[in-house]
Amino acid sequence: MKRLSVLALGIGVVAMGCVEAQAPVEEPGGIALVGGQLIDGTGSDPVADSVVVIRDGRIVSAGTREATPVPTGAEVIDATGKTIIPGLVNLHVHYRGGPEAIEQQFRSQLYYGVTTARSIGSDSPEAVAYLLEANAGRPGAPRPYTAGIGFSHPNGFNAAGRNAPTTEEEARALVRAQTDLGVHFIKMWVTEMPEPGLQITPEMRTVIVDEAIKNGAIPVAHIDGEEEGLQLMEAGGRDFLHTTVRTFGPGGGTPVDDPEPSAAFLQMARDNGVGFTPTLSIIQNGWHFAERPELLNDPALRAVFNPDALARWDDPETRAAVVEDPAFADRKAAFRQLQDFVKTIHDAGIKVALGNDAGTPNVPFGWGMHHEMELYVEAGLTPMQTIVAATATGAGMLPPVGQADFGTLEAGKVADLIVLNADPLADIRNTLEIDRVMRLGEWVDREELLPTP
Ligand SMILES: [Zn+2]
Repeated sequence: MKRLSVLALGIGVVAMGCVEAQAPVEEPGGIALVGGQLIDGTGSDPVADSVVVIRDGRIVSAGTREATPVPTGAEVIDATGKTIIPGLVNLHVHYRGGPEAIEQQFRSQLYYGVTTARSIGSDSPEAVAYLLEANAGRPGAPRPYTAGIGFSHPNGFNAAGRNAPTTEEEARALVRAQTDLGVHFIKMWVTEMPEPGLQITPEMRTVIVDEAIKNGAIPVAHIDGEEEGLQLMEAGGRDFLHTTVRTFGPGGGTPVDDPEPSAAFLQMARDNGVGFTPTLSIIQNGWHFAERPELLNDPALRAVFNPDALARWDDPETRAAVVEDPAFADRKAAFRQLQDFVKTIHDAGIKVALGNDAGTPNVPFGWGMHHEMELYVEAGLTPMQTIVAATATGAGMLPPVGQADFGTLEAGKVADLIVLNADPLADIRNTLEIDRVMRLGEWVDREELLPTP
């Protein structure tokens, strides 16, 4: 009897010794997603049979089942047959309206797994304050960044309500008025719309970039030509929206003769660590629902769609007018040039993030991010490259640049993630097959999020 007790005690000591050696693993609690395919957002190969451990809002560990023990006391969730990807990062949205409207836009984003967004140029001081409060991190909202009110030529692109300085002094004061609010970015519409010659001048761009950087904000520019891209890079600009292919024209789009970016442009962009957010949906959604009206049968898409735009696309005559327009073929050819630009710069080693102009009438919050991903795969990126663009790359372009603690599913990162019922590597549209969404380590109650008609 006594011998047995000693023996038992001995085993106990040995067992405890093992426990001691694995001490970090034995911290109790948290959530463990077990058996799913892990796509961590870094571009690493997917892990077929993975464990992801989440506690206190962060990823504790993520990897193969063998290398990633499940802590005692963790809530184990069987993820067999599912795929886990990081929450999506949309670098081009426009929140609209007051707090109540913005809250619904937040909910629509979370329903679809968009956990981070950059609002880019239409935010009043009141909206900026609201977005900054959410940016600090709260459940029920994505992590929004803001550019406040953007800058335009005085008669230029949609200049009403924008900052449209005519002197250097005025430009610097207007930039500081934004940075005093705490905005993360200073946005410029450097574009020739509505007509050539109405671009923000090169001198004025340089002043705006300079004043933004001096005051701790990141300059970001809507461009549609290579010359302004080159000039802005000289001035210190590293963050661009849209493309250098100037295809806009009568009928909504005209292909150009020489759409390829020059070798000099690609080299300079790569050397300077430039990032692009090409924003394809804002163009392609001008006809997408005319070609694919069956998509409008999806109640969730209908719920997040701008009601006026939805009514337009519900109308068979509107749809017919779009696809039967003699200019339609040109529009699509011009769009293909934009997609080719995305593929070219991506393959040239330039950072490409995702953004879609969500909040404009044809681009619904939440759903639109998944459609933008589909357009990237159509452009020629692999599903894996597209997921990286939609997560880690975008996160890395937000301040502090290159230091995001979210956007990938690695130990220590914020637990913003999506569990999918189907494999997005087999078909990127499977990112819409959402099982659950986690924000800040908490499951989102998706049923409560969609707007009611
Ligand atoms: Zn926009």
